[in-house]
Amino acid sequence: MKEWISDIVGLGYAQSIQIDSILYDGRSAFQHIQIATNPAFGRMLILDDAVQTTEADEFAYHEMLVHPALVTHPHPLRVLIIGGGDGGTLEEVLKHPVEHVTIVEIDREVVEISRKFLSSICDRAFDDRRVRLLIEDGIEFVRRTQERFDVILVDSTDPKGPGAALFAAEFFAACARALTDDGLLVAQSGSYIFQANLTERVVGHLGALFPEVATYWAAVPAYPGVVWSFTAGSKRHDPRTLAAQQIARRLQSVPTRYYTPPIHTAAFVLPPRPIDK
Ligand code: SAM
Repeated sequence: MKEWISDIVGLGYAQSIQIDSILYDGRSAFQHIQIATNPAFGRMLILDDAVQTTEADEFAYHEMLVHPALVTHPHPLRVLIIGGGDGGTLEEVLKHPVEHVTIVEIDREVVEISRKFLSSICDRAFDDRRVRLLIEDGIEFVRRTQERFDVILVDSTDPKGPGAALFAAEFFAACARALTDDGLLVAQSGSYIFQANLTERVVGHLGALFPEVATYWAAVPAYPGVVWSFTAGSKRHDPRTLAAQQIARRLQSVPTRYYTPPIHTAAFVLPPRPIDK
């Protein structure tokens, strides 16, 4: 009998995924970490029973977290990633001619396990000479840093455990301080279908800090409800105003599978929420 794991999203809904085999199963100081396989999704990183990323669909999530911001900013040279220990976001950022990427991940074991079992996702991103990996709490880093970043990407778990701090007003305020005068931030803002209150919370926090705030979505099959949201906060450049030609020009040297100029524009057109409690 095959095992199944269920990600209980709340609202009386859970998404279950069949586990063919477990390649790794351990507990770090922060969370239960598993690498499991599934016939449809391939290898999957699972933290505290929530699927974080899978070989089959990681490109959709990571491309849509990264490229709208890095194409919107006219010259993104210094990028900060909070979370993202599986390396998928980092790998997408490094496709751009950035000069320096700092990735702040609280759990060293997520990085080590991802590098060992999920090289199809992170490839050799962590070895790139432009990368600085810091193992610490993202909110502590943004509180204390004196550095300034053109783009900040928040690739966190959902708001439980150590991830809860990354959805707080104080965290986003500290991120706003750590951005350059024309910097922008994008945070994963939860399931657009089942976590309306989470998305609205992120929109509210960013709305108090940035003149331009925009939520967009991507189809990520492994995530509950598939329609996943991202919310951008920008000090100057509005991602909704980019012309297709501008996007196409920036993508000439950036290979993508999901993100295209039409997808960029369409992603900011949000479907009505069928379930909105
Ligand atoms: N794409 C996934 C999603 O949308 O759910 C997230 C992927 S990534 C694995 C999430 C990472 O955030 C985890 O490795 C976790 O350890 C890290 N994380 C959680 N809270 C953190 C914090 N306060 N500071 C830094 N990293 C944190």
